[in-house]
Amino acid sequence: MRMALLGPPGSGKGTQATRICETFGLVHLSSGDILRTEKMAGTPAGFKIRDFIDNGLLVPDDLMLQVMRSKIISLKDVGFVLDGFPRTLPQAQTLNQMLFELNCPLNLVLNFVVNPKALAMRFAGRRICPVCLTVYHVTGNPPQVAGVCDNDGETLITREDDLPEVVEKRIGTYQETMAPVIAFYAQLGNFKTVDTTGSVEEVTKLVLDKIRRHFDE
Ligand code: AMP
Repeated sequence: MRMALLGPPGSGKGTQATRICETFGLVHLSSGDILRTEKMAGTPAGFKIRDFIDNGLLVPDDLMLQVMRSKIISLKDVGFVLDGFPRTLPQAQTLNQMLFELNCPLNLVLNFVVNPKALAMRFAGRRICPVCLTVYHVTGNPPQVAGVCDNDGETLITREDDLPEVVEKRIGTYQETMAPVIAFYAQLGNFKTVDTTGSVEEVTKLVLDKIRRHFDE
């Protein structure tokens, strides 16, 4: 299985990608996590990336493709779930060409759509572990001990780009750049839409059912 999840920031791509990977034995490739890891490690690429991420701007396509390419190639035989990538039409076209040449095209693109009011509430409560990058929500998906990561006991933080003014910019950017990406995948086929407005558990059930039905077809 080689999948991509599309959806605005906060639509649950990261949480659901983790569950999809656990269920089907795939590797989760989150472009946001990959970039944040580079940023925190202070690598040369991380230094270039930092300003874009902290201001809610997209990282330029060539830099983004450079960061993702080797990871995708190394996982082509294992199976993967792309989360947050591709995010522009040139990224989608280049990815499509690359996977075609490797003879392993995406076999499912899931488009997450979510009610805008539910989206605003999700951002206000989202917290992440600065070390293992696990995502929580203070009410929707809380850790066992408030404010502390279940995996490593680190204190949870709010991402700098989850602050309201940055969120507004990220959602605006998403709507502008993703319309052609969604149209591109819709005409290629293997494209399904899922409403991810419900609770994490409800959405997981919907998503896993949709994937099973797609691969049984
Ligand atoms: P995310 O965790 O997916 O919301 O991504 C956080 C930030 O990383 C975004 O606001 C962008 O600055 C950057 N980013 C993640 N994925 C991409 C991508 N495919 N193309 C460009 N920038 C990206």
